[in-house]
Amino acid sequence: MREEALKSLFPAMVERRRYLHRYPELSFQEQNTSAYVADVLRELGIDTVVGVGGNGVVGTIKGQLPGRTVALRADMDALPIQDEKTCEYASQVQGVMHACGHDGHTSALLAVAEYFSSRREKLQGEIRLLFQPAEEVCPGGALSMIEAGALDGVDVIYGVHLWTPIPVGTTASRPGPLMASTDEFFIELSGRGGHGGMPHAAVDSVVAGSALVLQLQSVVSRSVNPLDPAVVTIGSIHGGTAQNVIADTCRLAGTVRCFHEETRKTIRDRIEQLAQGTAQAYGAGVSIDYMTGYPSLVNHQEEFERFQNVAAKEAGLGVELSPQIMPAEDFAYYLQRVPGCFMLVGAGNPAKNAAYPHHHPKFDIDEEAMLHAASLMIAMAEAYQSDRQ
Ligand SMILES: [Zn+2]
Ligand SMILES: [Zn+2]
Repeated sequence: MREEALKSLFPAMVERRRYLHRYPELSFQEQNTSAYVADVLRELGIDTVVGVGGNGVVGTIKGQLPGRTVALRADMDALPIQDEKTCEYASQVQGVMHACGHDGHTSALLAVAEYFSSRREKLQGEIRLLFQPAEEVCPGGALSMIEAGALDGVDVIYGVHLWTPIPVGTTASRPGPLMASTDEFFIELSGRGGHGGMPHAAVDSVVAGSALVLQLQSVVSRSVNPLDPAVVTIGSIHGGTAQNVIADTCRLAGTVRCFHEETRKTIRDRIEQLAQGTAQAYGAGVSIDYMTGYPSLVNHQEEFERFQNVAAKEAGLGVELSPQIMPAEDFAYYLQRVPGCFMLVGAGNPAKNAAYPHHHPKFDIDEEAMLHAASLMIAMAEAYQSDRQ
C-alpha cells in the first residue's frame, strides 16, 4: 500500500526536484527554496514555520493516534559549481549547482509530507519535518536549527543521503561512526626576509614551512592507532615572491578527518606541537589558526538495527554495510542529541548518466532513488512508532 501511494506521488517528486535543480541556491542563501518548500507544506495543510535557524523550514504533522515524535531531515543547499549537464533541467543559475543531491532529499521529504498528511487518522504520534539550510558550509544549518528549537520534544531522528557510489535499489549504513569529523587549519611561519645569496643574514620561512609539511606526515603514521582511520592533508603551501629573495612568511593550509573525538584531539595537539617545535628549530615565529568543523557522524546501535530490519522487508531495498567514509555531515549534531540513524540511498546508474561522484560538474542521480529514500524514511518512522507504542 505504501509502495502504491508513493508511486502515485513520483511524478510530483520528479517535477519538484527538477524545479529545485534548475534554480539552486548556495548555503545560507536558500530563500527561494525555503519559500517553495513552505508553499508545498501549507498547500498540504501542514503546520509550517519558516525562518527556523536561518532559512530552515519545520513542518509538523500530528497523527490522530497517540505516539512519539519522529524527526525526518532533508538538506536544501547547492554548491558553487558550474553545471556541465545539457539536460532540460540543468541549472539555470550561473556557477551554482545541486551537485550533491540535496534537491532530491528535499523533494523526497516533501513526498513523505504528502504521504503522512493524507493519513493522519492512521498516524501515531508526530512527524517533524526538518528542511535544513547550509549543510555544505561550516558552521552549517543543523546547529542553528537545533538552537531554534527544531529538536525540542523529538524522540528519534532519521536522515538520508542519495549516494551515487552505490547502485540505485540498494541502501547502506553502519552502526557507530559512519562519517568523519572535519577540521581546518592555517599555519603561518614568519622568518626574516633577505637576499637569496646571503641566507646567513635571514631566516628562511620556506625551509621552515617545507620541514613542517614533512613533520606533519608523522601525525597519522606515528601518533594515531593504525586501526583508527585518520587523514592530515596539507592542501596548500605559499611563500615567497622571487627566485633570489628569501621569503619572510610561508603559509600552510590543511584539513583533518577522523572518526573519534580522542583521535581528533590527539591530532590537533600534535599539529600544534610540531608547528611550534619546527618553527623554533628554524628560528621562525608561528601562528596557528585551527578551526573545528562538523563532528563525526555516529549512528545509534538500536536505530541502525531498525534500519537493517526495515530496509529490505519494508522498503524493498538491497541492504549493505557501508564502510566508514571521509566526507562530513552536520546531521552529526542531531545524533549527538537524540538517537537516530543516517542512511545512504543508492542513486548511481550509468544508464541514466548518474555515475559521477558527488560535487562533480556532471553530477546527477537516478530519480527512482527518491522513491527509495521516501519509502525508507516512512518505513523507519512507522517501525519506530509501532515498536514504541
Ligand atoms: Zn556535498
Ligand atoms: Zn550532501
